Amino acid sequence: MKPSPAKSSLSQIRFSIVEYRISFWIGSFLCVLAIAFLACAAQQPTDDEFRILREAMVREQIAAARFSGAPPVRDARVLDAMRRTPRHLFVPPAQAPSAYEDRPLPIGHGQTISQPYMVAIMTELLETKKEQRVLEIGTGSGYQAAVLAPLVAEVFTIEIVEPLGREARERLKNLGYKNIEVRIGDGYLGWPEKAPFDRIIVTAGADHIPMPLVEQLAPGGRMVIPVGPHWQTQILKLIVKGTRGPRDFRAEDIMPVVFVPLVREKKPE
Ligand code: SAH
Repeated sequence: MKPSPAKSSLSQIRFSIVEYRISFWIGSFLCVLAIAFLACAAQQPTDDEFRILREAMVREQIAAARFSGAPPVRDARVLDAMRRTPRHLFVPPAQAPSAYEDRPLPIGHGQTISQPYMVAIMTELLETKKEQRVLEIGTGSGYQAAVLAPLVAEVFTIEIVEPLGREARERLKNLGYKNIEVRIGDGYLGWPEKAPFDRIIVTAGADHIPMPLVEQLAPGGRMVIPVGPHWQTQILKLIVKGTRGPRDFRAEDIMPVVFVPLVREKKPE
């Protein structure tokens, strides 16, 4: 039996009410999304706000006594480099508002950008001079290399995770750093073609002191490196190279630290 014209127009009205309700809810949902998006975008601090956060970071986390008892950083050149380096441009955009907090942050590929205090104290321990050449192992975001760049003549930095190394190279170029060279490879082996280095900084935890790095350190040169078991607390060590041969050095324990592990390049089977 055919539906009567009255019944069919009733079901049409019901159908269009349902349609109207669905489109009302979809529309409302999209509006809420748009408002949330605009609110998030508006929450990104401005460059001026980032500068204020950066100055507070130096004053309160780096140049001040720390709760753990770790020593404050006093070297004015290091503090100045920390004040000038825009850490928020070295982290993924979603992390930018947290860039000046007292902690490491994820940068993708299971890696992290080190805590600002750790970057500063390691840089201070290097006791850099303007004419020196520095090797960094573990480029990550490129932030530590950028902090070193105004303090020395040249920074060479090696990253084992190819996409991170490429991104860091691009970022440093776009930010106008001219004295940093990024290489992709296994930093355990150092960079023999550019050796010797006046200073070496290793920003990943090594389970022993890599001899190729000691050998590539110039006589009297300094190296800072976290040494200890992977995924546990390591000891930040200061290595000072001697003058009695390529493997002559003394080591001093500085403080307990936690870094992502220094991994080795897998050899092809
Ligand atoms: N200095 C970085 C943070 C370092 S995190 C910054 O300022 O952002 C440690 C980095 O060391 C990671 O990116 C990791 O991929 C890298 N790494 C680990 N083992 C390495 C190796 N053998 N050679 C070079 N880089 C290595």
